Amino acid sequence: MTVLIAGAGIGGLTLALSLQEQGIPFRIFEAVQEIAPLGVGINLQPHAVRELTEMGLADRLDTIGIQTKEVAYFSSQGGYIWAEARGRFAGYNWPQYSVHRGKLQMMLLDALQERAGRNIVEIGRRVVGSTDLDAGVQLLFQDGSIVTGALCIAADGIHSALRAQNVPHEGPPKWGGTIMWRGTTLADPFLSGGTMAMAGRKDQKFVVYPIETQPDGRQLVNWIADLTKPADYLWNREDWNRQGQLADFLPYFEDWKFDWLDIPELICGSTAVFEYPMVDRDPLESWTFGRTVLLGDAAHAMYPIGSNGASQAILDARVLTQSLRDHGLAESALQQYETTRRETVNSIVLANRGDGPDKILDEVAMLAPDGFDHINDILSDDSLSKVAAQYKTIAGFDVEGLNGRPSLVR
Ligand SMILES: Cc1cc2nc3c(=O)[nH]c(=O)nc-3n(C[C@H](O)[C@H](O)[C@H](O)COP(=O)(O)OP(=O)(O)OC[C@H]3O[C@@H](n4cnc5c(N)ncnc54)[C@H](O)[C@@H]3O)c2cc1C
Repeated sequence: MTVLIAGAGIGGLTLALSLQEQGIPFRIFEAVQEIAPLGVGINLQPHAVRELTEMGLADRLDTIGIQTKEVAYFSSQGGYIWAEARGRFAGYNWPQYSVHRGKLQMMLLDALQERAGRNIVEIGRRVVGSTDLDAGVQLLFQDGSIVTGALCIAADGIHSALRAQNVPHEGPPKWGGTIMWRGTTLADPFLSGGTMAMAGRKDQKFVVYPIETQPDGRQLVNWIADLTKPADYLWNREDWNRQGQLADFLPYFEDWKFDWLDIPELICGSTAVFEYPMVDRDPLESWTFGRTVLLGDAAHAMYPIGSNGASQAILDARVLTQSLRDHGLAESALQQYETTRRETVNSIVLANRGDGPDKILDEVAMLAPDGFDHINDILSDDSLSKVAAQYKTIAGFDVEGLNGRPSLVR
């Protein structure tokens, strides 16, 4: 009997690689006809990099991503608020990476195909539902076909068909009032060359970090412009590939020319701009529905604040692998995975609604809306570092906690 995985995104592919390594039989089904390197930049936190490292993927990751050196916060006037080292630079045993989401997905796919065979991912297979049997589960596909296995893992993303089947009255993801415009631009390195910078405040924010260094020394710089809109704003349904219009957001950032980065120039240098509403889903009271369990965005789609979506999907995959080792291919394995993960990740979803670590920007904007000469004129170093420490503990990536704990898969 096999584990049936619906979705070959970041979570599904990590799970497949992890099960392959442990000799647990699986099949993995992906809706699209061809997996292409879609998306823009994401961050992988040290807790997720640890898992990929333990799966033998550290070198590959290092060739596709940039080690994040620090996260730095700036006011809307470009004034320096505070910075904090990241990854190895902060004492973790593993780096933090800024990486193109599509390249990460292709890296995981390549590794899986090398280890488990070129045709291991069954593409063009859109899952529409699952049905429990006396001793197994049936996965139902859009083309009418059926596959039987021991357990079903719903790694089918924010629009999960399997979540919709099991939480039928939930409806679409929830919009919190912010629209994000995202792009990548080839530019000279800024600040440390490995800085993730956040400038502004909740209702008008710019996030920027490099995801690749070119042979000529220039970097592919990922950027996100956030604007909060009124509740009656006619926003477009979330679609990772929807093209955005400069006219909708550039005017708000026109005078953001800082001594460390010219933001309008960066925006205008992008080859493509994507528009995406900041949506998430309410935390669930259960992820396990008989022999089907949710994983990654299907279980806990969250705002991209605190850079945790892909990292948490990777942790899910690893915890589930260990649960399957402990219990075999039984429903109790799904329960153990859910018990370990659900409440922890639900609290990250909620923390991100409260703006996660970025709420320091709002505090500064409130205290000094027109800027400041020096940040310590308005806030002490102590209150600045408290905000970050609190979020890191919720998200499970405090330095000692991560460095000191045993591996998730033993
Ligand atoms: C095309 C794309 C672009 C993205 N770009 C970004 C980005 O730029 N920035 C960012 O922060 N996050 C992005 N994300 C989301 C990000 O990958 C996830 O938040 C995170 O990595 C968690 O991964 P996941 O595996 O749970 O979900 P995902 O990575 O979204 O993977 C879900 C997978 O399931 C497949 N799928 C969906 N429905 C079905 C079905 N019914 N049957 C079978 N397969 C199905 C999808 O095609 C996809 O491959 C993107 C996701 C996608 C699919």
